[in-house]
Amino acid sequence: MKKNNLKKKLDKGPVICAEGFLFEIERRGYMSSGEFVPMVSLDHPEVLENLHREFQHAGSDIVEAFTYNGHREKMRVIGKEELLEPLNRAALKIAKKVANDTSKGSNPNLMAGNISNSNIWKHNDKNAQKEVEGMFSEMIGWAVEEGADMLIGETFYYAEEAFRALEVMKKTGLPTVLTISPMGENKMRDGKSVVDTCKELEQRGADVVGLNCFRGPATMFPYLKEIRKAVKCHVGALPIPYRTNKDYPTFFNLPDRNDCECPSPHGRTFPTALDPHFCNRYEISKFSKDSYALGINYLGVCCGANPMLIREVAESVGLKVPASKYREKMENHFMYGKNKRIPKHMKDYGDKA
Ligand SMILES: [Zn+2]
Repeated sequence: MKKNNLKKKLDKGPVICAEGFLFEIERRGYMSSGEFVPMVSLDHPEVLENLHREFQHAGSDIVEAFTYNGHREKMRVIGKEELLEPLNRAALKIAKKVANDTSKGSNPNLMAGNISNSNIWKHNDKNAQKEVEGMFSEMIGWAVEEGADMLIGETFYYAEEAFRALEVMKKTGLPTVLTISPMGENKMRDGKSVVDTCKELEQRGADVVGLNCFRGPATMFPYLKEIRKAVKCHVGALPIPYRTNKDYPTFFNLPDRNDCECPSPHGRTFPTALDPHFCNRYEISKFSKDSYALGINYLGVCCGANPMLIREVAESVGLKVPASKYREKMENHFMYGKNKRIPKHMKDYGDKA
């Protein structure tokens, strides 16, 4: 029954999934950049709840529990392993609460449990892999207990780690979304090609396969075209809203534009000085529209996302969402508007402004 809900929705049309809570919570002042641990579910649950509500208002159909990096290894790094389970359960409970609280009596959103790149996965290291599997299992277990309607495994840059994540997720019988994130070498770190990894994820039973994070529209779209042709299942497309390019396919090594007089102290734009590379809303809208035209129905935005961009994604595929009420109305602008109340001397001054 639950399985049908995501698939049924996707068979009928677009499904929007907001991601990228990490960057947005950091921008709002509730997370340390670089360290990136989602303590917000325990420290400021009201902030996380409100962010979920804003994304829902902007059209997200899925409320993904913010447990990204909330895994045992990261909690060890910051010396707070004892908070692992409380953090996960709190994030899941908040997501469930928001998912069940949709406006105007519409259907509840889907609450998604989430696992992701462990950062200790190592090719051909059975012990490390066993440990990662344990991390996945405990998090998926809590997600099921807290009432997840579906599971998202994301941001995997090792093919084998993604396969292992899917294996753990599949045991629950819940619908599964598995999106991968190839780095700058344009292949998975264990050597598999991007398309072959997606094909294998489909063969292993993922309901949705695709790409999320690391890549902006320009360097994600070419792979999506290939993936869409290579698989029969639904495909997911969740780019970062930054202008990556052929020379710099991901945001990790994206250099600043030449006009920066105040570079970041740590020597790279990622993750705190990417702002000049931010995509405008029309670029994100075009990306989503083009992806949907290919037959990609699972759409969203990853790190860098904000509610405004999620609204663009939703509207780009013809959806009207609560936040559509407040979409741009340039006709009423005091200088650039076409409204007949705007005085001529103000309209005429626009180019000098
Ligand atoms: Zn991301």
